[in-house]
Parts: sequence; C-alpha cells; structure tokens
Amino acid sequence: MPLDFRRADSVRDAAEVLAADPTARFLAGGTILMRLVNGNAGALQRLVLSDGLGLDRIEIASGRATIGAAATMAAVAAHPQLAFLKPVAEAIGGPAIRNMATVGGNLFARSPYGDFAVALLALGATATVEDAHQAETIDLASLLAARTRAEARIVTSVAFDLPEPGAFRFAKAIRRQPHGATVLAIAAALPEVNGKLSDVRVAYGAMAPDPIRVPAVERALEGRALDEAAIAAAAKVAAEGCQPQSDAIASGWYRKNVVSVHLRRLLAPQR
Ligand SMILES: Cc1cc2nc3c(=O)[nH]c(=O)nc-3n(C[C@H](O)[C@H](O)[C@H](O)COP(=O)(O)OP(=O)(O)OC[C@H]3O[C@@H](n4cnc5c(N)ncnc54)[C@H](O)[C@@H]3O)c2cc1C
Repeated sequence: MPLDFRRADSVRDAAEVLAADPTARFLAGGTILMRLVNGNAGALQRLVLSDGLGLDRIEIASGRATIGAAATMAAVAAHPQLAFLKPVAEAIGGPAIRNMATVGGNLFARSPYGDFAVALLALGATATVEDAHQAETIDLASLLAARTRAEARIVTSVAFDLPEPGAFRFAKAIRRQPHGATVLAIAAALPEVNGKLSDVRVAYGAMAPDPIRVPAVERALEGRALDEAAIAAAAKVAAEGCQPQSDAIASGWYRKNVVSVHLRRLLAPQR
C-alpha cells in the first residue's frame, strides 16, 4: 500500500488525522520515524507533515525560552541565546542528522537516544501539547511518562526559564568519537543562592527506559555549597533508583557502575 503524506492546515487538523487513524504518525525530522516506516512494511500508512505548521520558531523573552517542537538541533546549536544548549544539540548525531532531528522528535526517542529530553528535564521544562480538542501545557516529566499513549497528541513547543550563566551542565558518555549513541547522559541545573545550591535538578539519560530525574542526587546537593564533600555525597547515591537497560552500547551493569564517575566529573569545578 502506498504511503499517504498529509499536509494539515493547523495543528488541530493534524491531530484529528492522527486521532482518526492508528496507522498515521506525525512526521518531524524523520530520523527515527522513517526507519520504522521502512522496517514495518504497511504498518504505518499515513504521515502527517509537521512543516508549514509554524512549529520551528525559537523565542526568548523575559528570561524564558520557548522552542518550537519542529526546531532542529542545528537551529538550537546556532541560536546565540541558547549557547548553553549547544553542547547538548551538538552531541546528537552528526551534522546531517542535526539538520533534520527536531526537539519534539527527541522527546519520543527511546533509550539510549533522547539526549535533548534529558537536558530539558534538568531545565524544568514544560511542554505544550495539542490534540483534536484542546491545547494544554504540562510538565515534561508527565509527557515522557505518558508518551506511549501520546500518538494523537502533538507537542507544539517546550519552554523553560533560562539558567544563570554557568548554572547548567551537560555530559554524555559515548564509546566512539566524535559522536555516538549514549552510554549515559547527565544534565544538571545548579543554581546557587548565597553560595548554596538551591532548586537543584539533575536528570539522566540511558539510566532507565526513559530520561529520569534523580531525586537522591538532588537531595544530596540541595542547600549545600558545591564542594568536595557535597560532590562525594552525590556520587555515593548516583545510581539510586536507576534501572538502566542493556543494549548494544553498554550493559545495564556497566552503566550503573560508571554513573558516579561521570557525575563526579560533571559536578567538579569547571576549568
Ligand atoms: C545516525 C543517527 C544518530 C542519532 N544520534 C542520536 C543521538 O546521539 N542522540 C539522540 O538523542 N538521538 C539520536 N538519534 C535519534 C534522533 O535523530 C533524535 O532523537 C531526533 O531528535 C528525533 O527527532 P526527529 O524529528 O527526527 O523525529 P521523527 O523521526 O520525525 O519522529 C520520532 C517520533 O516522534 C514523534 N514526534 C515527532 N515530533 C513530534 C511532535 N512534535 N509531537 C508529537 N510527536 C512527535 C513521531 O511521530 C515519531 O513517533 C540518532 C538517529 C540517527 C539515525
């Protein structure tokens, strides 16, 4: 059966097509979806195009960033006011992938992919989603938890407060330079008030089936100066609550054993 490409006039129209047809999918950059289409002959029959819906805008206003779901990793990396996210965007695939891969698509990528979603979790991002009936803004963690049922909902944008300079850190361990799938990824928002960490958010990628926040590490750091003692306390509980999967990149056992090393490096004074 030939593949049917649909261009919708609005996000709502696109959501209606998705709701009416379980074989329809929303096509963003296609770096994941087209593999599925090619590998599942006939199972996915209709693709609803995201271009033309105005979802690729990036807006920065009053200290808050709103990134359209169809903004690409290349666009994020090139944005002068999102320089702190450049290392995250540039950790995703090579240049050809980054020219296509979108922020919205990354929220639906399965472990070990989803590096941008890890950064967004640490930034405390919200996601605006729209279905055939309504638009709503929800916590990113709830979106990630419910995304198997999210096929008929379209993410239109993500938003977060810009971190203070130097307060956001990201690290991704890979096996093959210059880029590769994630052994594990860590993002941390480390705001300080009067020299003490306040409202710490730490998120991991590839340490569970979905990107996760790490409450044990956050508790170990909250309210403390980011010194050697705090870093040691965080490293001690680095793997708490994690259930990493084994895949072609690394075993779950390996991930669990090395996460504290990478967390220590991320939290150490930056040169
Ligand atoms: C060679 C290669 C290397 C890669 N390396 C990495 C890497 O290092 N790190 C990483 O994180 N990922 C990596 N990826 C995976 C992928 O490129 C990224 O995760 C990318 O961000 C996915 O976005 P996309 O626009 O291509 O998604 P698509 O393939 O278009 O869509 C993926 C899924 O998300 C759904 N979707 C897309 N946008 C929306 C939306 N706005 N609302 C609702 N549903 C939506 C689609 O329907 C589909 O189910 C790699 C892929 C390849 C092929």
